Amino acid sequence: MKGNVPRNQYESWLKTMPADYCAFCDIKGEQKVIEENEGWVWVVNRRGAYLPYQTLIIPRRHIVELSECTPEELTLMQELIQEATQDYKKLMEEKKVPGKIMIFWRFRDESTRKNKSTDHLHLNLMPYKGEIFDHILDPDAHLTNF
Ligand SMILES: [Zn+2]
Repeated sequence: MKGNVPRNQYESWLKTMPADYCAFCDIKGEQKVIEENEGWVWVVNRRGAYLPYQTLIIPRRHIVELSECTPEELTLMQELIQEATQDYKKLMEEKKVPGKIMIFWRFRDESTRKNKSTDHLHLNLMPYKGEIFDHILDPDAHLTNF
């Protein structure tokens, strides 16, 4: 699966992949990298974006929990988040995107398997102005890149 892909198609496709498939380990080289350092990569979410201008900060190592990060990795993550936050402020001003920058972790729910997200730790970043998470899902999000 290549290129910009809407969320519903991405989730359907993910369900067809083997259980040990990692969406982030296996798509390296296909992502549009915005910035990176020794521990983390900040990329455009081309597959399954929730909202326009959604990006991801992903550790280079396949780790599942934040507690697996080394102190150095945590420092490197903080540096990238600070840079991303500054870039988002500029972007939102220039493009007149309303709202604030939302940053959150997303984990796979092993109990229900409803959330067929990857278990490779990742941070979601996106402009957000809604009130309830369900209302921010935008089926055309994949069409707007950083
Ligand atoms: Zn991985």
